[in-house]
Amino acid sequence: MNNTNILESSSTSIEPPKGSIQKYRFFSQLFSLAINIWIGIEFYLFIQYLHNNNAVETVVRPPGVEAWLPIGSLVSLRHYIETGIVNNIHPAGMMIFITILLTAFLFKKGFCSWICPIGFISELVGDFSDKIFKRRIKPPKWLDYPLRSLKYIILFFFLNAILLSMSSLAIESFIYTDYNIASDFMMMRFFTDITPLALKIVIGLVILSVVIRGFWCRYLCPYGALLGMFNFISPTRIVRNDTSCIDCSSCTKVCPSFIKIETVKEVYSDECTGCMACIDSCPVSKTLEIKVVKKSVTMNKAKWAAILLLFFWGSMLGYKFFGPWQNEVTTEQYRRILPSVEKGQMVHP
Ligand code: SF4
Ligand code: SF4
Repeated sequence: MNNTNILESSSTSIEPPKGSIQKYRFFSQLFSLAINIWIGIEFYLFIQYLHNNNAVETVVRPPGVEAWLPIGSLVSLRHYIETGIVNNIHPAGMMIFITILLTAFLFKKGFCSWICPIGFISELVGDFSDKIFKRRIKPPKWLDYPLRSLKYIILFFFLNAILLSMSSLAIESFIYTDYNIASDFMMMRFFTDITPLALKIVIGLVILSVVIRGFWCRYLCPYGALLGMFNFISPTRIVRNDTSCIDCSSCTKVCPSFIKIETVKEVYSDECTGCMACIDSCPVSKTLEIKVVKKSVTMNKAKWAAILLLFFWGSMLGYKFFGPWQNEVTTEQYRRILPSVEKGQMVHP
């Protein structure tokens, strides 16, 4: 298909050879999605418990829900850096945020393709699209580059608002506002009481993700943009040996991030999610490899993935058992704040 067409596309017919770790990646993503659904159910039950003043406390608020509050977590992180205090409103959110940033540094955007539940859903939609269209569709460069910059514009809007525009005093006061305390309720309400406009936007994004694989992740997710910037300083590299490479294009064809791996000596892109599909697809041994620490050490892809997952989930268990994890907001505080959230009266301070 030539470049004058609106869309470029590539075939997805190549199956990964033996030794592929993609099925393990699928189970890793499924596990993460299940954990998030479980957290969502627990949080929903906690809100039901808050509605009943006479109920015996049998449901505890799951701190993991704070993983869904990256903006508040960035506020908490700035406050922590400036004061050395882990705030007692959303401590888990900040610890999860720090851990995700560390995974991005150590393992590129591995969080996106191995753990993030939104990334997983986006991939499932993309797989559905692959089955229907048998081809992956990618906008041409003149459209792709401006669209990719959107997520950076959204990211810099938040970074500017939180890191540059707010004073230290404003950060401190914001943390203890009802608005910040209730941010997890508001996030839950987005899903359980979705507005017609938000629903239309979600449906629109799903349709766009059917047309263009990973539309949300590639063009709009500010979290992905932040993690992608770490790709340039991460000690992990995917390196191609151009002596043994037979130019079969398998790696490029399977790459969900549309990176032309067959033309580079090493993948140096903010879009690489460390999914390892390229290494899995390469038919020539030791031609595509993971190198770490200034490319001096070659690492087995399965070990790399196992260390990533151990690092992330091990950190979560560590926070759960040794803290900081649980917040110190009381049931009475939550009961006082909840009605304002449910009536839509909570306004940004
Ligand atoms: S370059 Fe390889 S690891 Fe990176 S996104 Fe593409 S297929 Fe996945
Ligand atoms: S790196 Fe491997 S998959 Fe990619 S073009 Fe070369 S031989 Fe083919």
